[in-house]
Amino acid sequence: MRLNKSVILGSVALAAVAALSFPLSSTLAETSEAQESAFRKAVKFGFTGQEIQGGVMLGDAPAGTRSLSFDGQLVPIDEDGKFIIAFNRDAGQSAQMVATLENGETVKKFFNVAPRKWKIEHINIAKRSGGPSAAFMARRRPELAQINAARRIKSDSKGWRQTFIWPSKGRISGMFGSQRIYKGEPGSYHSGVDIAGGSGTYFVAPADGVVTLAADKPFSLEGNLLMIDHGMGLNSAFLHASEILVAEGQEVKRGEPIGRIGATGRATGPHLHWSMKWNNARIDPILLTGPMQ
Ligand SMILES: [Zn+2]
Repeated sequence: MRLNKSVILGSVALAAVAALSFPLSSTLAETSEAQESAFRKAVKFGFTGQEIQGGVMLGDAPAGTRSLSFDGQLVPIDEDGKFIIAFNRDAGQSAQMVATLENGETVKKFFNVAPRKWKIEHINIAKRSGGPSAAFMARRRPELAQINAARRIKSDSKGWRQTFIWPSKGRISGMFGSQRIYKGEPGSYHSGVDIAGGSGTYFVAPADGVVTLAADKPFSLEGNLLMIDHGMGLNSAFLHASEILVAEGQEVKRGEPIGRIGATGRATGPHLHWSMKWNNARIDPILLTGPMQ
């Protein structure tokens, strides 16, 4: 032990003496070698967040990253190397990120995505058969087109980099991911978190963003729907509002009032349904805000 230590210390000391005793020009080769090794050490990913279904992670790309892919999907990188990824509610256990560096080398990161125990309710009645009526679909199709068009808008908002806050505080009346099974047949899972609140209560932007959809009349299911893009493929939707206070294209700041809670659309009582997506992944807002204080 002691011997190894002294050998290491000795070589460091010798290198320092060597660096000091040579003129600058002759140490250039050595310096670039030292930089090269420092560079290699920095060539790894940094992450914060949870490797969990419905979870989001903020990342730092390895130094010298030219492009980044996540399970084959290209991930944009901010100027300082920061980026965001998320795991869908039904994400499989493994995921992989690959950074391709300027020198053509690749750096990989494997994720071990923890499964969640979703709240599942078994109902002893059959799922409604026959599907939606033609009249409903005639109304629904343009609504879905509007939602999809809003999702395609990619703003350059930096909201994705922020710590998200709760848009409203109150009893959580519905959890993300919960699902009903009708006589063995699964219904669609709950895509957001429901926050109970008095009709007319203001709710705020959970992070900076740009308004991509502000319904001018209630949608059949979502009621008065408001959608906000936080940049880098991350967006929020707020459903059932009694009133929307912002307009499409408007920039909003975290904490700014953007609407009022209501029960428009398919809702049993006044509440705010807040759902979030990162590209096609449905994510759990609670994993961005932390528990309500
Ligand atoms: Zn809901």
